[in-house]
Amino acid sequence: METFESERAPLPRNMIENSMFEEEPDVVDLAKESPSYHIDSDDVTYEPRSSRLLVRGLGENDMDEDEEDYESSARLLGMSFMNRSSSQRSAASSYTCQQPSRSCSTLSTKTTAVGVLILVLVVSMFMVIYFVPSCTFTKKGCQKSNSSMGSIYPISTSGELFPWTDLRLPLSVHPVHYNISLHPDLNSMTFQGNVSIVVKVLHETKNIILHSSDMNIIKVTFEDKEYRFLEYKPWQQIAIKFPEDLKKGQYVLKISYKANLSNSYDGFYNSSYVDTAGTKRVLAATQFEPLAARKAFPCFDEPAFKSTFVVKMTRDAKYISLSNMPKIKTTDLNENGLQEDEFESSVKMSTYLVAFIVAEFSSHSKNVSKTTVSVYAVPDKKDQVHYALETACKLLVFYNRFFEIDYPLSKLDLVAIPDFLAGAMENWGLITFRETTLLVGNQSSPFDKQLVTSVIAHELAHQWFGNLVTMRWWNDLWLNEGFATYMQYMSIENVFSNLDIDIEFLNVRFKALAKDALNSSHPVSAFVSTPEQVEEMFDSVSYEKGASILLMLNATLRDGEFRKGVIEYLQNYNLSNTESKDLWNSLSQVSKQSLNVSEMMNTWTVHKGFPLVTVKRSGTQVTLSQEHFLLNAENGTDDSSLWHIPLTYVNDSCSVLRSCKQVFHLKDKADSLQLPGQVKWLKFNFRSDGFYIVHYDEQGWSDLISALKVDVNVLPSEDKAALINNIFALSRLGKVSFRQVLNLMEYIRNETETAPLTEALSQLGQIYRLLDKRSDLNLASRMTTYIKDHFGSLMESQSYEVETSVSKMTLRSALLETACALKGPNCTTQARHLFDQWLASNKTLQIPSDLMRTVFKVAAQTDEGWSELLDSYKHSIYDTEKRKMLEALASTQDVRKIIWILQKSLDGSEIQNQEFPLVIHTVCRDFAGYLYAWDFMKENWEKITQKFPVGSFAIQSIITSTTSQFSTKTHLTEVQNFFSSLGAKGSQMRIVQEAIETIKQNMRWMEKNLKTLQIWL
Ligand SMILES: [Zn+2]
Repeated sequence: METFESERAPLPRNMIENSMFEEEPDVVDLAKESPSYHIDSDDVTYEPRSSRLLVRGLGENDMDEDEEDYESSARLLGMSFMNRSSSQRSAASSYTCQQPSRSCSTLSTKTTAVGVLILVLVVSMFMVIYFVPSCTFTKKGCQKSNSSMGSIYPISTSGELFPWTDLRLPLSVHPVHYNISLHPDLNSMTFQGNVSIVVKVLHETKNIILHSSDMNIIKVTFEDKEYRFLEYKPWQQIAIKFPEDLKKGQYVLKISYKANLSNSYDGFYNSSYVDTAGTKRVLAATQFEPLAARKAFPCFDEPAFKSTFVVKMTRDAKYISLSNMPKIKTTDLNENGLQEDEFESSVKMSTYLVAFIVAEFSSHSKNVSKTTVSVYAVPDKKDQVHYALETACKLLVFYNRFFEIDYPLSKLDLVAIPDFLAGAMENWGLITFRETTLLVGNQSSPFDKQLVTSVIAHELAHQWFGNLVTMRWWNDLWLNEGFATYMQYMSIENVFSNLDIDIEFLNVRFKALAKDALNSSHPVSAFVSTPEQVEEMFDSVSYEKGASILLMLNATLRDGEFRKGVIEYLQNYNLSNTESKDLWNSLSQVSKQSLNVSEMMNTWTVHKGFPLVTVKRSGTQVTLSQEHFLLNAENGTDDSSLWHIPLTYVNDSCSVLRSCKQVFHLKDKADSLQLPGQVKWLKFNFRSDGFYIVHYDEQGWSDLISALKVDVNVLPSEDKAALINNIFALSRLGKVSFRQVLNLMEYIRNETETAPLTEALSQLGQIYRLLDKRSDLNLASRMTTYIKDHFGSLMESQSYEVETSVSKMTLRSALLETACALKGPNCTTQARHLFDQWLASNKTLQIPSDLMRTVFKVAAQTDEGWSELLDSYKHSIYDTEKRKMLEALASTQDVRKIIWILQKSLDGSEIQNQEFPLVIHTVCRDFAGYLYAWDFMKENWEKITQKFPVGSFAIQSIITSTTSQFSTKTHLTEVQNFFSSLGAKGSQMRIVQEAIETIKQNMRWMEKNLKTLQIWL
C-alpha cells in the first residue's frame, strides 16, 4: 500500500459530495445504525445509501495552532461583532471607513471616530475577557494570543495595517474576466501561476481586496505598473493599496505566484495511486467548494462574484489536461517536451466551480443533444466507465427537457479521481467523483448501480441548480443542495424506475427528521459568516431536510406548478445569484390555487426543527394541534414556533390511491376539521410526503393498528413505514408507551414490503444494540428471540441466488445481515458456503452484491477468512467490493485484529487513511470493539485531529460512532469529561452537543422502558 496517504496534511474542510466514506448503509441490520429515528445521534453511522450524496465538510482550514490563535485574536478584534450579514455590513464598515467600500458610510468628524474607536476597544476588551477560553482546540488549552489588539484593523504579514476588516469582500470592485495560466510540476509537486483579472471599479476606492491563500506572490501589477500588496493570512485576503482613489472603470490586475500543490484534498492538490503493475502514478486535480479556489489562484472567492474564465495549462506531454470548457488548442513549448493547452472562455460562473486536472486518464465519449459527454478514469479502470456514460447521457436528456433550458456547454466530463476525499463535485463541465461513486464493473448489480446513478443525478442537477443559478451567499446553500438532492430522486424515479429509489428517499426523510429533532440542529437557511460556519452548512439539514421540504411543497402544489415555477426561476435568474425568497416568489407566481408559497415555506426555513401534529377525533370532529418536536425539551424549547403545515390525510374508505388524499392547512397552534361523514380511522401525512410527525389519541392508534392487523395492504408501504418510524419516535419523546409500540409491531408478521420491514428492523436493532452494550444479556437475548419470532420466517424464506429487484435486494440484505449477526444457523451456513465457493473459484464467482457484505462478515470471523479478505482488499480494482471487504475485516471479534485495523487505518499504511471513520464505525457496532474504540479515540485524539481536523465531518462521524451507544450515567460523565478536557471549544462542537444529547436520550429511554421490556418482550 502506498504511504502517500499517511503523509497528508490535515484535511481541509472541503466539499464532500457524499459521505459514503464512513458508512455502508445499504442494509439495515442489528449490527449497525439504522436510517431512521434514532436513539443514536444519527449522522454517519446509519445514513441510508442516498445520504452519501451529502456534500460534507471533512476538515477545517489547515491552519496551525498559531494561526488559529491568530485568527481568534483577529476575531476578537473585529469579526465577532463586525461580520454580520451583508445587511449589517454598513454598520461594520463605519468603523473602518477609509475607502469607499461595500457600504462605507461617512465618518466625518474626528470626534465620532474617536468615540467609535473607544467603543470598539471597550467591546473588544469585553470580548477578549469573555471569549479567550475558547481560543484553541487543543488539549493544551488556550494558547497565548499574539493579538494585534491595539487596532481596529488587522495587522498584515508585513506588520502594516491591513485596510479591510471584514471576512466578506468589499463590493467596490468586481471581477469581470480571469485569464489563468498554470504550470504544475508533478515531480516537485509545485506550480507556477499567472492570473490576469479584468476588474470593474464600481465605487471609487483606494484598495482592491481579494482572496489568496498558501501562495508565494511574486509580482503584482495594475495597469502594467507594479504595486506592493498586503496580506492578512487568517482571512486569506490580500490588499493592493493605491495612493489615489481609483475612478470607476475597467482595469487589469495581474498577479504572478508560486505555490505547492496542496497535500490536503482541496485547492489545486496532488493525488496519487499505484497502478496494477505496482507503479506509483501522480496527478493534480482541484476541489474548490466552498473556499479553496483562493488556494489555486488569487480571486474574488465568493459565489456572487461571477465572472468568465480562460484557463491555460502547461504540462508534460505524457499527461492530458482538462478544465471546465473544451480545449481549443495545444501549443508545443519546445521546452523539455512541454505543451500548453488552452481552453475556451467559460460561461459566467462562481469561482468555486472552476476546475482543472492534469493526469494520465483514459476516456469514453458519446454525443447527446448538443453535448459530448465523456467519462474519464485511470487506464486500469477504463472498462468501468460505461455505465456512468450511459447514465449521464440519459439524465442529461431528462434535465434538458425538464428544465426547458439546455445544458449550455458543448462538453460534459465526468472524472473518477483515485485519491479524492469528496464523493463528487459539480464543477461546471468537469464533474469530479470518487472512483466508488462513478465506476462500476460489468458484473455490478442494480443494487450497486443505485449509488452511482444517484451521485450522477445529483451532480447533473447542480449544472442548473448551483451552476446556472447560484445562491448569493452560503447561508442559502440549501438552494443548491436541497434542490440537487430532491432532483436526484425525482429524476431517477422518472428515468430509472428499476432502481426503486423511492425507498431510499423515504429513508432520507426519516434520517432528516431524526437529525432535526435534536436541539443542536439549525434552520435550513441560517446566518453564516466564518469559514467554519460556511462549512458546517454542508450537512443533513441543507441536503436532506432541504429535499424533504421541496417534496412537501411539490406534493402540495397542483400538478405541473412546481416544475413551472422552477423553470421560471431558472429563466429569471439565469447566470446570476439568488436567495430563498426568489425561489418562493417564482413558485408563488405560478401557483394558481392562491397558496402563498413564501408564507408557507418561510415557516420551514427560518427556524430549526419540525412540528409534531396531534390528532384527536370524536366522531366526525377532528381536533388538530402542533408543537415543536424536540427530543430533549429540557434544553429549552421554542414554544412559539409555528409551521404552516399542508396536512394530508386519508381514511378507511379510500386510502391507497393518490386521488384519496385530502388536504387541510394547519397554520395555527390548534384548529379543527369537520369530516363529511363517519370514518373507521384516519391516517395523516399521506405517503409521508410531509416533514412532520403525527401522534393520534389512544383510540386513533388502536383503530389504525386494528385495520393493519385485518388487512396489511390497507395503506401504502410509505405510510406503514412512517407509522413505525413515528411511533418509535413518539416513544422516545414519551408520548406513547413501549407497549403501544409493540402492539403496532404485531402486524409486521404479515408484512412483506421492504420499507416497513427495514424500518422495523432498524428501530428494533437500535434497541437491541443498546441492551447489548449495557451487557443486559437477558433482555438482549429476549430481543433476539422477539426479532426471530417476528422476522424468522421471512429470513428463512430468502434465497441466496442472484436477485434483480433492488427492493427485494434491499430487504434481503437487511434480513440476512440481521440473521447472520444473530448467528442464525441457516444464514451463517449459507454464507460460509458461498464464501468457500468464491475461494474455490479463485475469487471469480459472483456473490450476489446485496449479500456480499454479509458473506464476507461471516467469513472474517475465522483467521483464514480474514487473511483471504485482507489479501483481496489489497489487490481488488473494484472499489465497491473493496469497501465491503474492509467492513468485513473491521467486523472481526478478535481484539488483536481490531487493534491492528484501527492502527493501520489511522496511520494510512495498509488501509487508506480516509477509511478510518468507516473502520472505527464498523468496529463500534459490536461489543468486542466498541469500548476499545472509545479508548482508542481518546488516546489517539491528537493524532486523529491532525489527520481529521476538529469539527470536520470525519471527526463528527468518529465521535458519533464511539458515543452513540452509551446509555449510562458513567459513560455520560466519561464523555463529558473527555470533551471538557479539550477546552471550551471541545464541548462547544455541535457534534459533541449531539453526542451528549443522544446519551441522555438513551438513558431516559432505558429508565422509562426497561420495565416494559422486561414484561412485554
Ligand atoms: Zn450537491
